Amino acid sequence: MDDLRVQVCVVGGGPAGMMAGLLFARAGLRVAVLEKHADFLRDFRGDTIHPSTLEVMDELGLGEAFRALPHRRVETLSGIMNGRSFRIADFRHLPVRNRFIALMPQWDFLDFLSGQGRHYPGFHLLMRTEAVGLVESGGRIAGVRANGPGGGIEIAADLVIAADGRHSLLRDRAGFVPKAFGAPMDVLWFRLSRRPDDADATAGRFGPGRILITIDRGEHWQCAYVVPKGGDAALRARGLPAFRAAVTDLAPFLADRVAEIATWDDVKVLTVSVDRLERWHRPGLLCIGDAAHAMSPVGGVGINLAIQDAVAAGNLLAGPLKAGTLTEADLARLQARRMPPTRLTQGLQRLVQDRVIARVLIDAGRPLKPPLALRLLDGLPWLQRIPARLVGLGFRPEHVAGG
Ligand SMILES: Cc1cc2nc3c(=O)[nH]c(=O)nc-3n(C[C@H](O)[C@H](O)[C@H](O)COP(=O)(O)OP(=O)(O)OC[C@H]3O[C@@H](n4cnc5c(N)ncnc54)[C@H](O)[C@@H]3O)c2cc1C
Repeated sequence: MDDLRVQVCVVGGGPAGMMAGLLFARAGLRVAVLEKHADFLRDFRGDTIHPSTLEVMDELGLGEAFRALPHRRVETLSGIMNGRSFRIADFRHLPVRNRFIALMPQWDFLDFLSGQGRHYPGFHLLMRTEAVGLVESGGRIAGVRANGPGGGIEIAADLVIAADGRHSLLRDRAGFVPKAFGAPMDVLWFRLSRRPDDADATAGRFGPGRILITIDRGEHWQCAYVVPKGGDAALRARGLPAFRAAVTDLAPFLADRVAEIATWDDVKVLTVSVDRLERWHRPGLLCIGDAAHAMSPVGGVGINLAIQDAVAAGNLLAGPLKAGTLTEADLARLQARRMPPTRLTQGLQRLVQDRVIARVLIDAGRPLKPPLALRLLDGLPWLQRIPARLVGLGFRPEHVAGG
């Protein structure tokens, strides 16, 4: 494999990296996106495409093609407590064109973005290419060392973007250590088949000491069972029959198919972490997405914040990159723009984690009483627009410049 010289080298073909690659290539820049895997197929990674991201697709002129991909639409969100349903969020009044969350496998989303990127001559997607180190020159990051199918390769770039996720290697190599905030829970993911006559909708189900989120994915239910931090081992020790019983206790309609959880291999653990970097950049290097800030699963906003970072990066940095005038001050502007929404979102997530989730998980012995906020939201439908806006659009929705 020959060494490459590009204007932007993006490491990581997740939502942040693929969107950044597409936007820089669309702006006429020469971009390399490095993805260590051979394809985008991987274990469940979350598949909530929020209205903020759908608006970006429209601004790029891709909305129609994107909505033609198979997806499920979620227009409202509900919580079920003691068998009673409380509506929490209603997206149907958002002041945007796309008033719903689209549920789409992340690999379809990433395939779509990479397909769009390939329309631009400057877009180079290098699959099975793993970044293993940074190249430094004259006090700045000047590129990336990577291993690809043809062996070692060096990619020189005016800007390296670390979009390599929550365990970012580039972040470590740059000497950055994220500040961790802790989380009271972990999440066990599994799927159960969905029957055409299932009347239930996507919902969060709360019982004493347990929470189950059931997401309607058409053919199946994607289920998230929330356990206290590190509680996975104790749950497994109690055995599969006890786990299946806990699931059906919260979602009785799943009783006829819960045996589909045949072994613990059918259950995947997501170790929940919430963290962020205090500084996202060094000369020649910028961290975005999970590499800059791992989000809690509360609200399912991780993909969407990663996309927002990429859009802001495209807006603020494409000009200086084209002109060859990029300085660290440009990267600092990007951080200054994206840090406040990141802080606010994580602050809200931590509030929900500590005030709602932790309390439900700890109070295993006591019957649950629906909190006042839940009763108010359900009783006053116009209030449901607030969580819909916070989840669906977030604090500072980005718009594609000239889009
Ligand atoms: C089980 C699970 C469920 C989730 N559910 C949701 C949800 O419902 N909604 C939601 O919004 N978010 C969800 N998330 C979080 C969401 O997936 C992330 O916030 C989002 O994917 C972050 O995007 P990213 O592009 O920053 O990083 P990632 O999506 O992590 O992408 C990083 C990419 O970089 C690649 N990579 C890593 N290291 C290297 C390297 N050295 N060289 C080359 N490539 C490399 C990885 O293979 C990966 O493709 C979930 C996460 C998990 C794990």
